Amino acid sequence: MKLFAIFGNPVSHSKSPLMHNMVFKDLGIKACYTRILLEDGSKLKETFFKLGLSGVNVTVPHKEAAFESCDEVRGFAKKVGAVNTIVLEDEKLIGYNTDADGFMYAIKSYENIKKVLVLGAGGTAKAIVQKFLEENKEVTILNRSKQRLDFFQKISAKTYTWEDFVLEKYDIVVNTTSAGLNDENLPAPKNLIEKILLNTSYAADAIYGKLTPFLKEAKDKNIPFVDGADMLLGQGVLANELFINKSFSKEMILKSMKKSFLI
Ligand code: NDP
Repeated sequence: MKLFAIFGNPVSHSKSPLMHNMVFKDLGIKACYTRILLEDGSKLKETFFKLGLSGVNVTVPHKEAAFESCDEVRGFAKKVGAVNTIVLEDEKLIGYNTDADGFMYAIKSYENIKKVLVLGAGGTAKAIVQKFLEENKEVTILNRSKQRLDFFQKISAKTYTWEDFVLEKYDIVVNTTSAGLNDENLPAPKNLIEKILLNTSYAADAIYGKLTPFLKEAKDKNIPFVDGADMLLGQGVLANELFINKSFSKEMILKSMKKSFLI
């Protein structure tokens, strides 16, 4: 029996155990998936081996620590410096990032996206921004503080803090901050959020399982929006495929995983 987990802080809200266990059960895979509250990101590797895990997903706020903890990082994760999926291979931790493709899956019905505003500058923002830039979209980042903006300046995205923000028109605004996850905060001061929403066609939030204050503002303004549920599903399918070493197709994993959203 292989053991998988999600590492995060907070982690009690995570749907990942339900999603992955549904796939393992449905497809007859001898594995189990649990959640671990990890307070100190620098203890990630030690905790992984202590628990005898075969793989993990990593969520807020440890994706950058996960990148540092891996023995090898593959594919898109190398570009973003953030890892959300780790698989044990020959006693080595191999890191991947499935968040950005998960997010693109979530907004696939929104067409003609050219200009994007991303709220937040953490691990999730890095992945989504990098993906939009690869697809030749114009991307602006707005973050509460300056410290994390360097990464985005180096990859030619426009960056602002709340103090120096210059409003433009956007096709989509994406909240990747954790504001609203465990509180009722907006991702930026209310007057800024209102102006931003009046200048966008669509809104999206990475947070799932609740109507965040940000999405509530979008809803009140009749702006079409998606929450993080489809992103969660998209990233989860790709992570599960890595956990089971592609022994079942994406379609089969998706079909099982979707069932966990009905529970
Ligand atoms: P990080 O900790 O790496 O980054 C958090 C970001 O949020 C930082 O930019 C931080 O700003 C900002 N922030 C935190 N609190 C506030 C606040 N009160 N007001 C404004 N900004 C704030 O987190 P992640 O990128 O890993 O995750 C971000 C969110 O995305 C989480 O809520 C997570 O649950 C969700 N998520 C959902 C997924 C899904 O599948 N649906 C997948 C991945 C993430 P500063 O730099 O100033 O500290």
